[in-house]
Amino acid sequence: MSTTPAPSCPFCAIPESAWLGQNELAFWVHDIAPSAPGHALVIPRRHVASFFELVPEERSGMLALLNEAKIVADERYRPDGYNIGLNDGEVAGQTVPHVHLHLIPRRAGDVPDPRGGVRWVLPETAPYWNR
Ligand code: 5GP
Ligand code: ZN
Repeated sequence: MSTTPAPSCPFCAIPESAWLGQNELAFWVHDIAPSAPGHALVIPRRHVASFFELVPEERSGMLALLNEAKIVADERYRPDGYNIGLNDGEVAGQTVPHVHLHLIPRRAGDVPDPRGGVRWVLPETAPYWNR
């Protein structure tokens, strides 16, 4: 599996010294523009755009680091919950075409009504409890 960095990819350009954790197939960092304190990105080493292009070992590597990032966030930020999200494809909101899993710590009261969480990517149909 080639891990040749893609020119002009911001994630391929993150130096190893800035990685907060890593394994053979993936690494994690804090988001440069965090949605909430401790917002982390788990990124495969290999530059591919879609989660569905990853091999199972890369997914496992990412999930192991998701757990590691969660443990670190629990200790440092003591959140009350998390959103875990992955935008796959431009129409789904992906702005960096190198797979990345968002881990967003949440706090009680950070929004007036958190119900629906990731469903709010499509606001019209998010509040299913109103149907
Ligand atoms: P997407 O919209 O593709 O799901 O998310 C891209 C995410 O990458 C955004 O949350 C954005 O703040 C983050 N991001 C963009 N460039 C960089 C960067 O150079 N370093 C880090 N750590 N995060 C970045
Ligand atoms: Zn890349």
